[in-house]
Formats: sequence, C-alpha cells, structure tokens
Amino acid sequence: MKLNIKNTFTSENPADSILKNTRRQVEEAVYSYVNPKKTKAPQILHVSEEMASELNISEKELTSEFFKNIVTGNEIYPNTKPFAMCYGGHQFGNWAGQLGDGRAINLFEVEHQNKNWKVQLKGAGETPYSRTADGLAVLRSSVREYLCSEAMFHLGVPTTRALSLSLSGDAVLRDILYDGNPAYEKGAIISRVSPSFLRFGNYEIFAARKDIKNLKSLVDYTIKNHFSITEKKPKERYIKFFKEVSKRTLEMIIHWQRVGFVHGVMNTDNMSILGLTIDFGPYGWLEGFDFGWTPNTTDRQQKRYRYGNQPNIGLWNLYQLANALYPIIEEVAPLNKILEQYKIDFETKSLQMMKSKLGLFTSDEDDVKLIQDLEDTLQLVETDMTIFFRKLSDFTDNSSGFQLIKESFYDYKNISNEVTNTWNLWFKRYDERLKIERASIEERKEKMNAVNPKYVLRNYMSQLAIDEADKGNYTLIDALFKLLKKPYSEQPENEKWFAKRPEWARNKVGCSMLSCSS
Ligand code: AMP
Ligand code: MG
Repeated sequence: MKLNIKNTFTSENPADSILKNTRRQVEEAVYSYVNPKKTKAPQILHVSEEMASELNISEKELTSEFFKNIVTGNEIYPNTKPFAMCYGGHQFGNWAGQLGDGRAINLFEVEHQNKNWKVQLKGAGETPYSRTADGLAVLRSSVREYLCSEAMFHLGVPTTRALSLSLSGDAVLRDILYDGNPAYEKGAIISRVSPSFLRFGNYEIFAARKDIKNLKSLVDYTIKNHFSITEKKPKERYIKFFKEVSKRTLEMIIHWQRVGFVHGVMNTDNMSILGLTIDFGPYGWLEGFDFGWTPNTTDRQQKRYRYGNQPNIGLWNLYQLANALYPIIEEVAPLNKILEQYKIDFETKSLQMMKSKLGLFTSDEDDVKLIQDLEDTLQLVETDMTIFFRKLSDFTDNSSGFQLIKESFYDYKNISNEVTNTWNLWFKRYDERLKIERASIEERKEKMNAVNPKYVLRNYMSQLAIDEADKGNYTLIDALFKLLKKPYSEQPENEKWFAKRPEWARNKVGCSMLSCSS
C-alpha cells in the first residue's frame, strides 16, 4: 500500500507544542499530535472499495494485515503523524467552549487524481480533547455513520465519506438512554474520509479566545486549500469566503429537506466549513412527513433540531460563524447582507426543490400555495414521505391520485372522509397545474425519480443491521450498503425495503429514539 502522502494541514497550521496526551485547554494551535490506541482484537467488518480506490488502495491491499492495522489505529503509516483538531462550538444554542476531536484522530492526508483527502479514525481512543469521555465508539453508532455517510453520497448530498468499519475487540461502557443503566457494548472504529474535517467551531474557538492571528491564518489556509476565491484584498476575500460557506450550507440543508434527513445535532461543531454532512450521530430519516420530528431524544423538549427547523438552524449557525469572522472583516453590513441573502435563497431554492419533487419545471404564481397545501395535507395523518413522493411520479390523472398514494398512509384503513376529500381537492389542483408543463408523462416520471429516492436508510433498517452485527452476522450491513448505492433505481429484488416502517420499530430505541450516547 503506497499512498501519496501530503502534509498541507499540519505544515501550514500551528501545532500544539505539548506532546503529552492529557486532557486540557489547547491554545494558539489548530491541532495536537496524538496516536491512536492499540486495540485488543481488530477485525474489519466492511470496506468501501469505491472510497479505497479514490485513495489509490487496491482491492488486494484491502485484505492485508497492514490495512487492517492502519484503519483500526494499531499501526501508523510510515512518515505520518496522527493528530486531533482543536475546535469549540455552540451546543443547543449555547457557547460550550473548547470541544475538539475527542474521539477522532486524523491519520494522514492523501492526494490522488488531483484530489486531496483527509483520512480520520473515529473511536480510536482519547485525545487532549476527550474531556470527561473515553474517546471510543460503539458498534451501533459506527454502523450508522458508516452506512449513512455512503448512502448520502449516493443520494447526491454533500457529505463526508467512509472507508472502513471495524470492531476494536474492546468492550465499551455506555448508558444509552442516560437513565443510569450503563452496559458494555462492542467497541468499533470507522475510518472516514473528507477533503477537510474543519468545522465552524474551528474558527469560533479562536474568535472566542481573541486569538485573531490564528483565526486569520486558519481562514487563509482554508481559502487557499479549499475555495477558489480570487479577491486580492484580504477583507473582500474573507467576505467572499463567508458568502461561499453560506451558500454551501444552504445547499446541503436543501438536500437534507429533499430526502427527509434529520441531522439531529446541528451544533456549530458539527457544521462543516465545506458544507458537507458531518458527524452522523442521532440522525434519522423521516418516515411520516412531519416538520416537527426529531430522532434525538436529548433534544426532546426543545426540538431545536427538528426537520422543519433545519434551514433556520443553518442560518443561526452562520450567524455564529459571522461573529467569529467579524474580527478579521470588521464590517457588519456585508456579513448581514449575506445572512439576509440566505433567507431569500432559501425561499427560492426550497421552492425549486419542492417543485422538482412534484415534477414542475415551469412557473406558475400559485406554486407556493400548491406546495404549502401539499405540506399541510401530508401532515394531516401519518404519511410516509419516501413512498408518497416516489408514488407521485406515477400520477397520470386526477381520478387515480388518491389511490396511488394510499399505501403511504400508516393507518390507511382509517382515513376519514375529510382527509380523503382534502387529498382529492389537492390532486385536482395538481392535475390542472401539470397541464401547463411541457414534459411528457414519461419524462416527468424520470425527472421526479431522479430527485425522489426509492430507497433511504430508514431508521429500522440500520437497527436490523446493528442487531445482526451484534450477533456476529454482517451480511445485512453489506446488503444495505449495496442497496443504497443506487437509491434512485428500481431494484425489484429489493422491493421489500420500499416499505413503511414496521410497527415494532415505531417507538424502539435506536429506531425512533436516539440519544447522543454513541
Ligand atoms: P458530538 O455532538 O457527538 O459531535 O460530540 C460533541 C463533542 O463531544 C465532540 O468534541 C466530540 O469529540 C466529543 N465526544 C463525543 N463522544 C465522545 C467520546 N466517547 N469520547 C471523547 N469525546 C467524545
Ligand atoms: Mg461532533
């Protein structure tokens, strides 16, 4: 395994001068050198061959002892120095101070086919940023991140990716529901990959410490390595940078809304500066379409990170980033303008996205109303989002509309006349609206099916894979991994996954209820 190793991140950013792996505040540094912990009995459970080939790792090399040792932290790739990054963050609306990579360790940076990738382990032991926790990860949360990040990629959602999923062979103690019942679980490590793991919190921490010198140099590094911004004057460059981050953040969230993904913990330390979906924790997929839904039980009271609030939170997080960048820009107006633009762009892009889900490509003044009424109608009774939109592409005429989507109702036997009538009225308007479209029925169907996935990683599906994996059977992980590589395609052999959530999963821990414990 010969990788083309680069060191842009470590050579262009200041390192923590202390080498001892003790928990502490780390100042005037972007990262601390730290080695992963050796594990008892490492075992690879799954590898993304596609991601491996992006890094120039061959199929044969994936089966080597060396690869296994690298991706489980048991061996260090020659001439590389692993490190953990320092960042802060606003958690659930409050400034939380220094957080940092408490259980992520960056292994190295690889360049291949003109792409630069950072490879990172999650769950490989403590770092100076571990605070009161152990730096480890359990199997269930690792399976969830591994499967979901690759699924997101194939859905066309900007995301960090995964390379491997392994067992460490060590046991990890967790209190899943934070109710005083800790139990041992299997420890696991994923290796994940991204052009960068920098977060809003990486910039916020320097601003909070009034360390403007390091703030500026980290922004300079980020622009130089990740953005094509040509403005010569520093302030204009930083404004453009913020504008670009704002744009990418919105684009990512619009994608989440399109596929029904709820991140669950949109704290600023979980917001990628590149607008990638990052840190898959207590995330979930909408089953019933519901703006008020969040899978995260830690957020049960406030529901701050509920589905319908994700776009607002994106903006709130950008305000925090704007505050962090202010000391190097020193002007409020341009930052405000960008934040205002986010709201305007949200309206247009979200309308455009919803229209594409409905197969509407021309414009009509009543489109906003048609979509708002659809969203209201979808929430009258529990209606499966994925099935509804996929079925909608078969719509041909008003008379069959309701029948077509019937199977997306969770309690389809007890749909009241009132609900039926509301749907019929809506379908009548939809039918009329479609008449001004130019595309043929077949063309419309094809376009709709390219934005309305047939298969998503429903919460119960990961749970089934986790339950099996816990017993030592990893076939479902592989089956789901393959299924989700083609989420928009008809896969007749996989039709069983195009189904509503089974009733047993409605209120099950791990399916509809997830905490931050991972
Ligand atoms: P999260 O909201 O899950 O992204 O985590 C928030 C912070 O807690 C981050 O700084 C994580 O690195 C840290 N953290 C989460 N779990 C652990 C753990 N088991 N050990 C050490 N740090 C952790
Ligand atoms: Mg995080």
